[in-house]
Amino acid sequence: MNIRIGNGYDIHQLVSDRPLILGGVRIPHELGLLGHSDADVLTHAIMDAMLGALSLGDIGLYFPPSDPQWAGADSLNLLAQVHKLIRERGWEVGNIDSVVVAERPKLKPHISAMRDRLAQVLNMEGDRIGIKATTNEKLGPVGREEGIAAYAVTLLVSQS
Ligand code: MG
Repeated sequence: MNIRIGNGYDIHQLVSDRPLILGGVRIPHELGLLGHSDADVLTHAIMDAMLGALSLGDIGLYFPPSDPQWAGADSLNLLAQVHKLIRERGWEVGNIDSVVVAERPKLKPHISAMRDRLAQVLNMEGDRIGIKATTNEKLGPVGREEGIAAYAVTLLVSQS
């Protein structure tokens, strides 16, 4: 089989004393995401989708929150490592599609910058990375602005 699909999900809590970083882009907002790394929930969901496609576990296995070396880590660097891992196994990313669920702020103005940053790290064309933003219609923890969630799917293509 020369294609594999993977899906990933992540959620992080919004707090007042952290920057908001999504898809490697710092977004102006009075709240940011809490986490051991930079808490880039979109990039985390994408990494889990890539790992899941090859049954390689999840990012907690490679970058455990208990390990101080990942404190404050730039998730784009972690993404580069996951990308290297799948390439070493003979796979490349065909495409990615993702959704960020956030009540605020409006993410639309930042989506092309996020896509560019992710495409740069993955060394692929931006038009193979889908990023959509939606609210949770004020429902649940995301709707109450207690956190931001992200979902991603990816198709990996065998290079051999
Ligand atoms: Mg995470």
